[in-house]
Amino acid sequence: MAEFSLELNEEQKTLQEWLHGFAVNEMRPIASEWDEREETPWDFINRAAELGIYSVDFIADCFGDPTGIKMMIALEELAWGDAGLGMALLGTSLGVAALFGNGTPEQIGEYLPQCYGTPGDVKLAAFGVSEPDAGSDVSSLRTRAVYDEKTDEWVLNGTKTWISNGGIANIHIIVASVEPELKGRGQASFVIPEGTKGIRQGQKFKKMGIRASHTAEVVLEDCRIPGSCLLGGKEKLDERLARAREGKSSNVQAAMATFEATRPAVGAQALGIARAAYEYSLDYAKERKQFGRAIIENQAIAFKLADMKTQIDAARLLVWRASWMAATRKPFLNGEGSMSKLFAGETAVKVTEEAIQILGGYGYVREYPVERWHRDSKIYTIFEGTSEIQRLVIARAISGIRIQ
Ligand SMILES: Cc1cc2nc3c(=O)[nH]c(=O)nc-3n(C[C@H](O)[C@H](O)[C@H](O)COP(=O)(O)OP(=O)(O)OC[C@H]3O[C@@H](n4cnc5c(N)ncnc54)[C@H](O)[C@@H]3O)c2cc1C
Repeated sequence: MAEFSLELNEEQKTLQEWLHGFAVNEMRPIASEWDEREETPWDFINRAAELGIYSVDFIADCFGDPTGIKMMIALEELAWGDAGLGMALLGTSLGVAALFGNGTPEQIGEYLPQCYGTPGDVKLAAFGVSEPDAGSDVSSLRTRAVYDEKTDEWVLNGTKTWISNGGIANIHIIVASVEPELKGRGQASFVIPEGTKGIRQGQKFKKMGIRASHTAEVVLEDCRIPGSCLLGGKEKLDERLARAREGKSSNVQAAMATFEATRPAVGAQALGIARAAYEYSLDYAKERKQFGRAIIENQAIAFKLADMKTQIDAARLLVWRASWMAATRKPFLNGEGSMSKLFAGETAVKVTEEAIQILGGYGYVREYPVERWHRDSKIYTIFEGTSEIQRLVIARAISGIRIQ
């Protein structure tokens, strides 16, 4: 009996076909328009909600796959359709991952449905860690959360930047420092419920790519939330802080735990863009004739496509492995989550650039989707840990040395 298999099961194949159809019919036709408009595509999010793709049930079903692969398949197909529209749906899942990673069952039960809403009344979530002076160095973030014992409230002050769905989300999960002296180990995650005073959107950013996804600053000014909004609860936080003060080992810091879990998912999206560009340029290379023959008949072009396909398949294997490891609770002893995001992100940038080269001038103009895919791909070497930070994680994991 062969237990090891990379073949998709029926359920996974069905999901893949369904989402591929959604990507072809509902995403590709509007991708260019929303890239130009650079606004939140509410109608599209509602359509995804109507079809059950933007919903708690969908996320729960994907996460429920014991192999861990279903979610990766879903993300690859959505990003194949369009990464910007895909992120308009997936920005919420960052907040959801933080809620799952840090919240109690009661908190998850209360806030998860509020992250998605219902068809016709969709809601969004956001996850705010990054700050103007704390990007890669999450441990130095300055947003403060101070406990007011008299009212059993937390008071948050600070500015978050580059937050997907920032300021327009109904639920914000914010990472703040509770005890700054303890750096990353003195941080906690808080849920800011809808309608809370003292939280607002700052600057909205104009971006190079994934332009259908909203990215903005989030400003917190004396933002008061009930004590129950501390994810994980006060008792757990107090225990963690006490351990950290004594210099004892503690759980990984709140923000990093969320990022490590979501890295294969980010890799899967990068993979979707890379595959889109590869497929398009393969077809093009067979059609386009110069010097009386299809350009693919030149090794210079055919070998590019051979490398693109090889890199994409290698990236997928890394993404699937990391996701399978996470689902089967195998620890990332060698930074396998980071490997998957690093390789898939860099593959997307390389493959989309080669696709432009294969299309020549047609690759450079906006009538063709390839330049958009290249613009979209670049964020995958930056957000959720830059390529350099992924290499740092892997290097530290394999060496046991605190490489700087
Ligand atoms: C479109 C978009 C969406 C985003 N969405 C979110 C979100 O929803 N929530 C959120 O919290 N954040 C979000 N971010 C922020 C993102 O995670 C950060 O931009 C990223 O972590 C990098 O931080 P930084 O931009 O401050 O770069 P910096 O940390 O300043 O890095 C600059 C350069 O220095 C390198 N560098 C830094 N430290 C080291 C080191 N020790 N060794 C080697 N090289 C190093 C980096 O790799 C990079 O090349 C988003 C960003 C963008 C652009």
